[in-house]
Amino acid sequence: MFNLVLFGPPGSGKGTQSENIVSIYKLEHISTGDLLRNEVKNQTPLGVEAKKYMDQGLLVPDEVVIGMISSKIDENADARGFIFDGFPRTEAQAEALDKLLEFKNTKINLVLSLIVSEPDLINRLISRGETSGRSDDTEEVVIKRIKEYHSKTAPVANYYKEHGKLEDVNGNHSINETFKLLSNQINKYLLPA
Ligand code: AMP
Repeated sequence: MFNLVLFGPPGSGKGTQSENIVSIYKLEHISTGDLLRNEVKNQTPLGVEAKKYMDQGLLVPDEVVIGMISSKIDENADARGFIFDGFPRTEAQAEALDKLLEFKNTKINLVLSLIVSEPDLINRLISRGETSGRSDDTEEVVIKRIKEYHSKTAPVANYYKEHGKLEDVNGNHSINETFKLLSNQINKYLLPA
């Protein structure tokens, strides 16, 4: 199994690049944002609870997200590997993920961190909001999400750096250029399927 974390702030292109990576390397895509939005859409108890945080640009509590990830990994035991998108977002989540994977005799092999300048992030998210219909892509909530990223999520990069798994990738280029940079890193571990 090859397990990849695609890391970066909101608006850095994790969702778009995950789709590109999945189509070439046939990994199982796990996006906690997508899983949560699905729960919200279906008005499950988890979704109703999560929405309160999401609408404010705050992170959903760790135990909620970790539980969702665990069942998703179990459902896809035969996968070639996983690409984690938008997870882990706290050090507690990163530690929990290591434990979950160890229990399944596997591990995170590589963490690719997309680096995008802050004004670009804000512009990308606000213009996405005009078409995505996402209620958290307004200027007010975007600013809160980026603040939450700096205080809780950015330290996760250090966690993986200390474990020798982190590679920075310039995400300011076009979608295709950035995908080439990501592929160059992945190809060191895994060939296209
Ligand atoms: P995203 O689509 O990844 O930008 O996530 C949208 C929102 O879902 C975030 O602003 C959080 O409220 C919530 N969320 C997604 N992933 C996580 C996570 N790993 N931990 C906590 N909250 C999350």
